[in-house]
Amino acid sequence: MTKSEELFQRAVKRIPGGVNSPVRAYGSVTEAPRFIQGAVGCKIFDVDGNEYIDYIDSWGPMILGHNNEQIKDAVIRASENGLSFGCATEVEVEMAEFICDKIPHIDMIRMVNSGTEAVMSALRVARGYTGKNKIIKFAGCYHGHTDAMLVSAGSGVMTSGVPDSAGVPKGCTQDTMLAVYNDLSSVEKLFLESDNQVAAVIVEPVGANMGVVPPADGFLQGLRDLCDKYHALLIFDEVITGFRLSFSGAAGFYGITPDLVTYGKIIGAGMPVGAYGGRKEIMEMVAPAGPVYQAGTLSGNPIAMAAGLTQLKILWEDQDIYKRLYQKGELLYEGIRKIFLEKGVDYQVNSVSSLGCIFFTPNKVTDYISAKTSDTTEFSKYFQYMLNHGIHMAPSQFEAMFLSDAHTEAEIQETLDCIEKYF
Ligand code: PMP
Repeated sequence: MTKSEELFQRAVKRIPGGVNSPVRAYGSVTEAPRFIQGAVGCKIFDVDGNEYIDYIDSWGPMILGHNNEQIKDAVIRASENGLSFGCATEVEVEMAEFICDKIPHIDMIRMVNSGTEAVMSALRVARGYTGKNKIIKFAGCYHGHTDAMLVSAGSGVMTSGVPDSAGVPKGCTQDTMLAVYNDLSSVEKLFLESDNQVAAVIVEPVGANMGVVPPADGFLQGLRDLCDKYHALLIFDEVITGFRLSFSGAAGFYGITPDLVTYGKIIGAGMPVGAYGGRKEIMEMVAPAGPVYQAGTLSGNPIAMAAGLTQLKILWEDQDIYKRLYQKGELLYEGIRKIFLEKGVDYQVNSVSSLGCIFFTPNKVTDYISAKTSDTTEFSKYFQYMLNHGIHMAPSQFEAMFLSDAHTEAEIQETLDCIEKYF
């Protein structure tokens, strides 16, 4: 028995499913996931001494690679003053100033502890600001595990949501309206049906939680126009895309200005951080400046801020990183497309810059319904093969691969060779 298997046997007795987040479980929940002991650069090591090229990257924040020296030093230095005070600190001001100075559509920002909290709070602000209650979200977009967002799809456009999880009362999702990703007419239909009650449209500007689904030409601009027409706020959930597609995220990458933005893990560089921000008159609604209550004992934690701010400064000062990430994305995803062409494999490769995935389906994937046509049994076989050959990827079809600045051409080539052998 491997050490991972031993740990998993202990874990399942004390942690539901043996993991602290379901995405960590492997296809069969009875199979032990690899327990991780450490990571550096683009390599990750399990407790049994196996080494892998990592494409999870802690689900995005390790954009510079694992265990970056500057970030580690910043954390060690900050921790010497104490771990948490629950009081205002200088580094929080520096973090807020740094982001607001550099991101044109953010005048004010509030730190929280996760992407889930960021979204939950942004929705409350949108409702408080507009005085309306309905939220339009897209089937297949994930916005954390807050009750109102646990409405997904499989059944196309719905005017009122059906909860995806046990324990979510219907009342919590009755104001969530479901639209089809990349289908503007499905959005306008909901606006019309809502009797002008839509507070906000929330979207992953690149779908990255149903596999990777890029926005079609004009989709994001169309959302901007619809929100303006019907006086609703446009919220970009940039938990995955923020500081990744460009320093100013997908908003900068596609040149579309949202009213509110939510960030997650990447602004904590691996520490538990999230944030939401936007225009001054909207953000001034937040307590104690305004009437929308939102709070957090550990929000703006000094160690987390030290880590995150160090990462953001590195990204800002070396913006060529975004060219490099783009090129690495081309190398990997174009490389896979070439292999498929040569081998006559009729599967899809979707990608935007450093984010991408293979869909095991001959159908073009543009939304949740088409993503679901993927053969997940085939995906699981592929995942196992890659894992056994030293490539560490998300164990689910419906997640992205994350490239970091630490992946070199050599590791990308090794990955392509492995993919070629599998197919
Ligand atoms: N929004 C998006 C787009 C996400 O991808 C995620 C998680 N991956 C979340 C929100 C929730 O973030 P967290 O897991 O930090 O609560």
